[in-house]
Amino acid sequence: MTEKYDAIVIGTGQSGPALAVRLANAGRKTAIIERKLFGGTCVNVGCIPTKTLIASARAAHVARHGADFGVAIDGNITVDMMRVKARKDAVVRQSNEGVTKWLRNTPNLTVLEGHARLEGPRTVRVNERLLEAAEIFLNVGGRASVPDMPGITKVGYLTNSSMMEIDFLPGHLIIIGGSYIGLEFAQMYRRFGSRVTVVEMGPRLIAREDEEVSAAIQKILEGEGIEIRLNAKCITVAKRGNGVAAGVSCEGGPPQVTGSHLLLAVGRVPNTNDLGLEKAGVTTDARGYIVVDDELRANVPGIWALGDANGRGAFTHTSYNDYEIVASNLLDGGHRRVTDRIPAYALYIDPPLGRAGMTEREVRASGRKALAAKMMMSRVGRARERGETQGFMSILVDAENKLILGAALLGIEADEAIHSILDVMYAGAPYTVIQQAVHIHPTVTELIPTLLAGLKPLE
Ligand SMILES: Cc1cc2nc3c(=O)[nH]c(=O)nc-3n(C[C@H](O)[C@H](O)[C@H](O)COP(=O)(O)OP(=O)(O)OC[C@H]3O[C@@H](n4cnc5c(N)ncnc54)[C@H](O)[C@@H]3O)c2cc1C
Repeated sequence: MTEKYDAIVIGTGQSGPALAVRLANAGRKTAIIERKLFGGTCVNVGCIPTKTLIASARAAHVARHGADFGVAIDGNITVDMMRVKARKDAVVRQSNEGVTKWLRNTPNLTVLEGHARLEGPRTVRVNERLLEAAEIFLNVGGRASVPDMPGITKVGYLTNSSMMEIDFLPGHLIIIGGSYIGLEFAQMYRRFGSRVTVVEMGPRLIAREDEEVSAAIQKILEGEGIEIRLNAKCITVAKRGNGVAAGVSCEGGPPQVTGSHLLLAVGRVPNTNDLGLEKAGVTTDARGYIVVDDELRANVPGIWALGDANGRGAFTHTSYNDYEIVASNLLDGGHRRVTDRIPAYALYIDPPLGRAGMTEREVRASGRKALAAKMMMSRVGRARERGETQGFMSILVDAENKLILGAALLGIEADEAIHSILDVMYAGAPYTVIQQAVHIHPTVTELIPTLLAGLKPLE
């Protein structure tokens, strides 16, 4: 027998739960379905656990550098990986249980566990149950991509998900992929005490960023003893004793890196391959992302796709914003659109990279006249006081209308400081507003007006 609902939400990532609760509270009889862990990637195997582990890694790093601050620690600094994992598990559990209870305690909302598949544009099957609704919302997220590299089926490898089960110190962690996720794990495990090698196919780390950002990050990581192999165009993997050997060289450097463990961090794929999209007639692009319009509607009326699976964002805040867009347009008569969103994110190495808007490369490609400014973090009082002067702040402004085009802040507290720039961008105000603002001393943000005072034409 078909169970009738007004709305069905598949997936409990960063948009599904908020949307399901909002719909149920608005009087729509709603079902939400999760096949694995409530809260999805961010809560269980993404942002929250990694940032919790990064906090442990930073504690070890600060302890090792205690003498620089006049703090003497007798004896060796050791990291108890079982306690590190237990701390991470406790933080994750709190969020996971929070989402679960929130959903289960919401009136008018039915919570189902199991893998959901569309059977048509209005019907969803979960185990033996067939559900029907006029409105279906897909928040199915993504998973680590496992590339088809030679030898991969014959070696054991880790992904961001299985890394969460580690309660020991890998002797030598080889990380394939020198981008956001790979670099966070690289610094984290180096600080825990592992030898770490990052193997990147491209000529530089995080190719999406400007070259000077990539170069500065490489310097920070190499400064902590992380080995980085770039231009590894023909990566192969093979078992080597109890560990793994990665063939990395087409050109210079030793042809092989031998390590104890292998982590794949080479991108994400959307969870759309086993969702029955074809039965409902929902279109995906060549990489499997659900094609949506500016209000996140799929090509089939009554179906929306939110979060990573629509390819319009790859972050918790973009997924949550997808919920805000859909809820506003559906329930509040709003006209919010994805294209109103300014790209913004952080890379949580230490010190972090905070990014907003366009890169310098994008600004140049746009052909507009721009002004640019850069300041080293060594000029920032807060950074000097904390003994963490690595990195720089850079900003780009439209020379004609004075609007801020983009910024890259790499340095202590940059993930917070970037918001003062981002909010001025959202306000549509000229950079002079922030330049004339009086910020609090001593902070990182107080130097942003000084940074802006140094604007010069982008050569
Ligand atoms: C290691 C790592 C670190 C990250 N760090 C950050 C960070 O610091 N900041 C940030 O903004 N973002 C970060 N991200 C990205 C962030 O986790 C995601 O962008 C965010 O979770 C949004 O995901 P989502 O809402 O699309 O769905 P997800 O969180 O991926 O959740 C989707 C849910 O749908 C379920 N599901 C899938 N298919 C089905 C089905 N057929 N039936 C039933 N259930 C289904 C899944 O089990 C899952 O629970 C990180 C990601 C990783 C991997």
